[in-house]
Amino acid sequence: MGEGGVGKSSLTHRFMGYEFLETYDPTIEGTFRAESEVDGVTVEVEITDTAGQDSFRDIISTYYSRRGAGYMLVFSLTARDSFFALQNRIYEELMDTKRSLSGQQHERVPIVLIGNKSDLPSNREVQLTEGQAQGREWSCNYFETSAKFNENVRESFVTLIREMNIARQSEKK
Ligand code: GDP
Ligand code: MG
Repeated sequence: MGEGGVGKSSLTHRFMGYEFLETYDPTIEGTFRAESEVDGVTVEVEITDTAGQDSFRDIISTYYSRRGAGYMLVFSLTARDSFFALQNRIYEELMDTKRSLSGQQHERVPIVLIGNKSDLPSNREVQLTEGQAQGREWSCNYFETSAKFNENVRESFVTLIREMNIARQSEKK
């Protein structure tokens, strides 16, 4: 999840093993399936790449019923507004939706926070320490990624998959 233009489709494509493209259709929402080896175990991952102003609640409701959903919250390091959008709107909407669907106040929601476009340091508007501080506040891992140069992309997805596994294990108990 995250504002348009931050690199959600680019990150998804990179994780799928595709090449970086300079342009993606900003309106296309797609679901992708990939097999990936995480800690020696082959896992099947389904990634929903969100787009546009689709109802956030609908998206979460659709996937909520599936066990072990996780969320990648993406902003661009070169656009402070996209960081604000997560802080002021998207994170709370996600948590509110999760709470109202589950009826639980303190559900563990697997999340990673991503500052993308680390390859553009001269356009940087959000500092490393700010991303890290937000990650601490939300108790999630923070990564700076470049979809363009394929930096930290796999690490980000693998970390989220681990979080999802942990949440699923604790659900079973
Ligand atoms: P989305 O709307 O969040 O899905 O964003 P896109 O993946 O469509 O990317 C928006 C624009 O940013 C495209 O022109 C991408 O080529 C570009 N972009 C995405 N990730 C990166 C990155 O890591 N570095 C740079 N320099 N550009 C990127
Ligand atoms: Mg997109």
